[in-house]
Order: sequence, then C-alpha cells, then structure tokens
Amino acid sequence: EQTPFPVGSLVRRQTRGARVAWGDRQVQIGGGAPVVVQSMTNTDTADPIATAIQVKELAMAGSEMVRITVNTPEAAREVPAIREQLDRMGVSVPLVGDFHYNGHKLLTQFPDCAQALSKYRINPGNMGGGKKRDDNFAQMIEVACRYEKPVRIGVNWGSLDHELMARMMDSNSQRSAPWEASAVMREALVVSAISNAQRAEELGLSGDAIILSCKVSHVQDLISVYRNLSSRCDYPLHLGLTEAGMGSKGIVASTAALSVLLQEGIGDTIRISLTPEPGGDRTREVIVAQEILQTMGLRAFTPMVVACPGCGRTSSTFFQELADSIQSYLRRQMPLWKAQYPGVETMNVAVMGCVVNGPGESRHADIGISLPGTGEVPSAPVFIDGERSVTLKGDTIADEFQEIVRNYVEKRYGA
Ligand code: SF4
Repeated sequence: EQTPFPVGSLVRRQTRGARVAWGDRQVQIGGGAPVVVQSMTNTDTADPIATAIQVKELAMAGSEMVRITVNTPEAAREVPAIREQLDRMGVSVPLVGDFHYNGHKLLTQFPDCAQALSKYRINPGNMGGGKKRDDNFAQMIEVACRYEKPVRIGVNWGSLDHELMARMMDSNSQRSAPWEASAVMREALVVSAISNAQRAEELGLSGDAIILSCKVSHVQDLISVYRNLSSRCDYPLHLGLTEAGMGSKGIVASTAALSVLLQEGIGDTIRISLTPEPGGDRTREVIVAQEILQTMGLRAFTPMVVACPGCGRTSSTFFQELADSIQSYLRRQMPLWKAQYPGVETMNVAVMGCVVNGPGESRHADIGISLPGTGEVPSAPVFIDGERSVTLKGDTIADEFQEIVRNYVEKRYGA
C-alpha cells in the first residue's frame, strides 16, 4: 500500500567534485561527497598565534576547513607561520584565504602564503573595474593554476560588480515586463558567478577546482538565487546566508534558508555566518552548521539528544540540569569516541521530563531516561534498545546515567 505522505527524502544534486587538501588531509566539496562544514576566524591574521589558536578551536569543534582573512601584506606574511603552528599542533585542517581588493598583489608578492593556503576565495566584485579588474582576476587565477589550488568564486550582494549590474539594469529597462531592481540583482549575482567561473576555465583553471557562491542576506532571495544558480551550472556550491545576524535571529534565518535548499539537494559546503555576542564563542557557528545537517539527516556528527521542553510538571531545575549534563558529556566524549567507536555519532539519546511522553520517547531512542515529573522523589527508569532496564534514584542520577551511556557505547560500537 502506498503511503500518501512519505517521509521526506533527499536527492543531492550532481556536481563536480573539488578537492581541498593539506598534506594527507583531503576534503572534497561536491561530486557526491558529504556536505562540508566550514567556518571563518575573526582574529587579525597578522597575529599568527591568536589566529592559529582560533583555527584550532574551530577545527576541534568540527570545522572541516577554516577561512582566514588575508587583507594586508602583514597578514599574508604570517600565513605560512599560522600553517606551521597548526602543523606543529597536529591540526591539518585546510586553510582558505579570503581575498578582496588586493588579492592579486598579495598572492604574487607572497608565494609562501599562496602555497600555505589550500584554497582561495575570490570576490570578482572587489577587484576594480574594466581592464584592471580582468587583469587582477587573471593574476589570481594564474597563481591558483601554478600552485594547483581550488578557488571559490564568491559573489556577494553587498559587493556586486557595478559594471555588470549597470549593464543588466540598462538592458532590462528595455523589456516590456516590469523588472524590479532586486530581480535584476538576483540575476546579476548568478551571471557574475557563472561568467567568472567560465573565464577562470578559459584562463586554464580546471573546472574541477571551482566552487561558486552567491551570498545575500535575505532568506527568500537566497533560495531564489541558489535555485537559479544550481539549474545553470554543475560547479559545487558553497551555501551561506551572509550577515545572518546575532543570536537566535541569525540561527533561525540561516536554518530556514539552508534547510529549504539542502532539502532540494542544493549545496555542497555550508558556513553559518553568525555575529558572535561580545566575548562569545566563535565555535557556535560550527555547532549550528553541524546541527542543521544532522537534524536534516544529511550527516551525523554527535549522538542526538531528544529532550522535551519541560513544562509545569518539571518545575524543579533537576530535569534541565540532567539534559544539559548529558548533552555536554556526549560532546566532550566525541573527539575520543569518534576514533574508538565508529557509528556512535548516529546514536539517539532521550532525556525526558515526565511520564506523559517520557517512556514513549525513551523507548524510541537507543537509550533514554524518563524523570517522573514534579513533586516526586527523583526516580527515573532507563530504557535501553526499547526495553526498560534499571531505575535510577536520588542525586546521583546524572552520573549514573552517564556511566550507563558509556557502557552502552563501548558494548554496541566497540570493535
Ligand atoms: Fe512536560 Fe512531561 Fe511533556 Fe516533558 S514530557 S513537556 S515534562 S508533559
């Protein structure tokens, strides 16, 4: 019998595969590879220690490549030192250089920088105009060919090629149908990305070394632009809502835009551009990127914790503390577990507040715990593989449950 509303399934769009490498570490973008998580530092690249430390933090959090800004000769000079620091710390994550305005000069004047980077991000809208723009672009592509580095041609709404935009506005003003400026802009983004990619190929760069992005800051624009872009080329695509914003707004906007596109099979690498709170943790954007991919069933990074929101039945803080401690415990363990217990990242853990949904959700999880709700002595049945196992009691429930989870992981995922 046919199910009238089948569970969403996701077919990835076929793209070429671009390889981003450092030493033995190879990250493939597109060509059927899993969607890659990436992020960007916000340190001054001219400070190699601070930058290397932040790159390491982002890599440890799960960023599979890290972009650094290369904006001045001082920054370009320090890129090899950053690479060296990372190699010394055993961090092989590929570094991507982010270039605007002077990338052609920096890449040609600092060959060690060009070599130490694993990929270059080029913004064709920030390279001057006319012949100067063409020459600067050609210089950067020539360096990419010489060092065999892939390139992301990253077009951005905020820095779109003015000449292209003016030409398109002119030609569209002749049309009978009324063209709104933003529609022309969306089309201009796509035209700019594709035409620059074609030019890079004409200049000798392999089509397998090109990744495209067209970033905008509004959700509906982003969806429209990427649908258009993906229908007109087979280069791998870097997805991200630029200037997504702070806190929950940034997370929600990015998730809304990227989920729609990923569900349509569009997107080969993602970056979540969150504005950190003052003193906030930069790794948050990596966690959000991973959680988007994992909740959509595209990848698995860490065991999923299903926790109910709590309500009047959980008026003590015990339930929140238990859920938080289990989530933190699993994240802390993952770097170690990943190597020892293949497949552990697909595990589901339920932490539930009361008997209303607790036993049911716990039975559906690989391992779950269900508290009794308000006003009762803490006593919580544990469910393992759908079967009720032990009942934990008292103040040590969190520690004992962690121990049960650890034993379960060893038994189920150990060699
Ligand atoms: Fe409230 Fe219980 Fe539902 Fe959790 S499972 S939200 S505590 S009713």
